[in-house]
Amino acid sequence: KARDPHQPEFLQAVHEVMSSLWDFIAAHPRYAESGLLDRLVEPERAIQFRVAWTDDHGDVHVNRAFRIQHSSAIGPFKGGMRFHPSVNMSILKFLAFEQTFKNALTTLPMGGAKGGSDFDPKGRSRGEVMRFCQALMVELHRHLGPDTDVPAGDIGVGAREVGFMAGMMKKLTNNAACVFTGKGLSFGGSLIRPEATGYGLVYFVEQMLATRAMTLEGLRVSVSGSGNVAQYAVEKAMAFGARVVTVSDSTGTVIDEDGFTPEKLAELMDVKNVHYGRVEDYAKRLNLRFEAGKRPWGVPVDVALPCATENELDGDAARELVRNGVKCVAEGANMPSTLEAADVFVGAKVLYGPGKAANAGGVATSGLEMTQNAQRLPWEREEVDARLQLIMRDIHDNCVRYGRKDDGFINYVDGANTAGFVKVADAMIAQGLY
Ligand code: NDP
Repeated sequence: KARDPHQPEFLQAVHEVMSSLWDFIAAHPRYAESGLLDRLVEPERAIQFRVAWTDDHGDVHVNRAFRIQHSSAIGPFKGGMRFHPSVNMSILKFLAFEQTFKNALTTLPMGGAKGGSDFDPKGRSRGEVMRFCQALMVELHRHLGPDTDVPAGDIGVGAREVGFMAGMMKKLTNNAACVFTGKGLSFGGSLIRPEATGYGLVYFVEQMLATRAMTLEGLRVSVSGSGNVAQYAVEKAMAFGARVVTVSDSTGTVIDEDGFTPEKLAELMDVKNVHYGRVEDYAKRLNLRFEAGKRPWGVPVDVALPCATENELDGDAARELVRNGVKCVAEGANMPSTLEAADVFVGAKVLYGPGKAANAGGVATSGLEMTQNAQRLPWEREEVDARLQLIMRDIHDNCVRYGRKDDGFINYVDGANTAGFVKVADAMIAQGLY
């Protein structure tokens, strides 16, 4: 705390992980030796740099960009890039810290990183976004490499932005090795990667529900956000027979008691992905109820899937969900629940899947994209999807293994933190002090 007083998100993430590891470390004191915990909370490298670029009118803008290379203990640094005005060192350090444990959970050899910029792509032309991405890569390229650091997308960074950055990387290095995942299919992308986080989240939910002999069939589901993760969570939840009654963005929530259909989802994707519009435009198109400034958590549901951003679900919202009978909360976003909200869910013995386990399908499929690129062989859709399902099942099994309590309750927070920690910590111990 003394070192990072101005980094509340980072401190929150460290607090969440360390408090859930405490009993385990007390029982296994070798994990507290050699400064291991002190090393684990300090990124291996944190890079901050200036990005100067020119808009369509010839005016110069200066943004701040970062890459946090948190841990390479189990493999090359890996984690997304985020473009959003709220991006700062604290948010990216929390995301890189989380990513380290998440990547360990996937069973694939990937270290943890995160990066991004306070650049706001909303309202910018394609040419402006491209020039920004290229200007950013002029600095970032020297810190990346297929065995060093492999970024991907996140909020505000989709296939278009990854394409611009990967293209500039190739130009600057004269090397076509895989240094981004989430690429377009025409230049090395993997089938199922765009769907992977949302699909993986719903596969994880099915596993969680199965521990209480339930399935998604006929359940009411709320989703927050309306971006990449939210869209494919809606699609897969529908495919499993759930009725999805909400989506949202930073301006408000759409409530649709009849539930999503594939046709409605196609409209939402058109509004968000083709026109870069707002959920209010989607509500207007289909004449649905839109509540400005509201989040979805007041709507009674069986399953809640926060898929927008960090700290979007606080203690009051958690209590309201519990009062309304929520059975399962699984996080598509990273740290969407505040510490208080997480305590409410665990205290009420709700099935609560934290992001580092429930949304790990995205980075897992990025790992599969790296494998395909190294083999120079693209896999079929079915093969990638089957591997994704297996990985989500393994992550769930690991959470159960480390998180089952004496009364049978599965604490997925403890399970995910402990399983991820053990893998990273063992690798750090084996490689000695550095
Ligand atoms: P997108 O940019 O596609 O969508 C983000 C969504 O969240 C939008 O609906 C956006 O609304 C909303 N949102 C973003 N910031 C805020 C904010 N400060 N307040 C309220 N709403 C906000 O991003 P993704 O779907 O890729 O990412 C969503 C979450 O999932 C993030 O937490 C990300 O870290 C996490 N994640 C993503 C993975 C991936 O594979 N993409 C993998 C694992 C986790 P608006 O348009 O109004 O800003």
